[in-house]
Amino acid sequence: MTTNPNTVPAVPSGTLGHITGPVVMIGFGSIGRGTLPLLDRHIDFDRSRCTIIDPDDRDRSLLDEYGVRYLTAHITADNYRDLLTTLLTEGEGQGFCINLSVDTSSLDIMRLCRDLGVLYIDTVVEPWPGFYYDNERDNATRTNHALRSTVVDERRASPGGPTAVSCCGANPGMVSWLVKAALVDLARDLGHDVPVPAAGDSAAWAAYMRDLGVRGVHIAERDTQRAVKPKPVDVFWNTWSVDGFISEGLQPAELGWGTHERWMPDNARPCGPDSPAIYLDQPGANTRVRTWCPSHGAQYGFLVTHNESLSIPDFFTVRDAEGTVEFRPTCHYAYHPCNDAVLSFHELFGAAGRWPSAQKVLDEDEIVDGRDELGVLLYGHDRNAYWYGSQLTIEQARALAPHQNATGMQVTSAVLAGIVWALENPEAGIVETDDMDHARCLEVQLPYLGNVQGFYTEWTPLTDRPGLFPDDIDPDDPWQFRNVLVH
Ligand code: NAD
Repeated sequence: MTTNPNTVPAVPSGTLGHITGPVVMIGFGSIGRGTLPLLDRHIDFDRSRCTIIDPDDRDRSLLDEYGVRYLTAHITADNYRDLLTTLLTEGEGQGFCINLSVDTSSLDIMRLCRDLGVLYIDTVVEPWPGFYYDNERDNATRTNHALRSTVVDERRASPGGPTAVSCCGANPGMVSWLVKAALVDLARDLGHDVPVPAAGDSAAWAAYMRDLGVRGVHIAERDTQRAVKPKPVDVFWNTWSVDGFISEGLQPAELGWGTHERWMPDNARPCGPDSPAIYLDQPGANTRVRTWCPSHGAQYGFLVTHNESLSIPDFFTVRDAEGTVEFRPTCHYAYHPCNDAVLSFHELFGAAGRWPSAQKVLDEDEIVDGRDELGVLLYGHDRNAYWYGSQLTIEQARALAPHQNATGMQVTSAVLAGIVWALENPEAGIVETDDMDHARCLEVQLPYLGNVQGFYTEWTPLTDRPGLFPDDIDPDDPWQFRNVLVH
């Protein structure tokens, strides 16, 4: 799965699937704009029954070249049922709803789609407005555990039926496929001769991970994309949704809690009795962790909460016959966003959380250079740590498809892979990306990911420590969260 980082990639082509009914895309922000050209290129569908819904019509003109309709509207709790039912039942065939907006309930829309027999995909469990910034709620109810549980409960209550793919972007999404691919590499390199488990066999995958000696997973990302112009003060710049990033950055830091951990921060709280995770009573974008990415080595990342920090440890939990947990990896995001976003959050926290006066998602023409390096760092095994992921430059992203930067392309190509998988598995019920066939999904996505490669490293969170000042470390066990967290 390795491609040369210096080559200009071939532009992918070819039909990968056929949607027989109407298509509705909710949200035409940075991810919606980037997804449309990939749909246009790879999915056969009826343009005259394709509708894009967004309250803001600033990019409406982009649609002319694709021949699809634009509906300027806010989807709300009051109108979603009537509005979407009309659009998703137009004419013959099975429709597909692609939810790429903020401020709309993934659960409600997913439920409606399944009632209508329509396929569904989103990239995050998104709530209706109000959830993220409600001062009346305690922090336990503002976690991703709370959000994800609504979908997990729905799946339990309503098994099978039309496929609804939950949280299928880059992360959450692609990274769950990367974890499986990295485990297969690790098994090869450690001479571990065990058959690769079947896609959705959680118990077998969990035992596979445990037997390889993996103790935890960082979703380790470094975004080095730089804007052509310097960022002014009091504006928030990012390479994907500013609304989305501020929302999740102000949720509590949250992580899957591994069975090898022997220390917990004082402000750690369990997310719930059956949860694989804990949360810290502090915002994720103000919580730093030590991690490692191949191009720049050791780095600080933000421990921002994400669905995959829960779904991955859940999927890879080994239980005994009584249901007692025997093994679970620690798992969390360790995100170094683009420097403009780091500075933007620094300003936001410094101003006591005041919302910036303006915001911008940097598009492919506003970025001068850089790449998004997004992978999974599997640690604690006999080869220490293994990073496996995508290194995609802005130049490659520009050459591959229009209307997106490198970050966007890692997300939109995962959406494409999820759509293809849903079309090939239309009666799979509600799934998370951990349940899906990672090899098939990465096969679809690979042409859009730039260099996809694995790197072993000797780095641990204790490397080059202690330094000049007292340090609260566990010197006997490098891969303890105590050593990862920046105190
Ligand atoms: P964006 O902020 O650029 O765009 C969001 C769009 O939603 C905007 O155009 C906005 O006008 C529209 N919108 C807002 N309220 C709406 C409503 N009520 N009805 C319809 N449309 C509405 O965001 P983005 O970068 O395109 O991200 C879209 C979603 O994808 C976000 O939820 C984000 O968190 C998620 N995301 C996931 C991943 C991943 O890897 N899983 C990565 C990036 C973004």
